[in-house]
Amino acid sequence: MRNLRRHWNFCSVCLHPQRESIQTDFVNWEQVEVIVRRYGVCRSAVYRHAHGVGLFEQRQKNIRRALKKLCLERRGGKSKR
Ligand SMILES: [Zn+2]
Repeated sequence: MRNLRRHWNFCSVCLHPQRESIQTDFVNWEQVEVIVRRYGVCRSAVYRHAHGVGLFEQRQKNIRRALKKLCLERRGGKSKR
């Protein structure tokens, strides 16, 4: 808990006004480079945040979406959310 509180106070993603969108994109397997460009956050901050609040576990549960996105990208189609 202490580490999580420290995380909240210093994490640029937690302090970002679009934090929820960043998290949603990450959990939905958006490429981190896209998240970095879209929200103007640092790549290392995205990974630190993901580790700090457990987004990797949520993303793993969302593997089906990732597979669909990958299949569509290989076919040259666009992924619909
Ligand atoms: Zn954070």
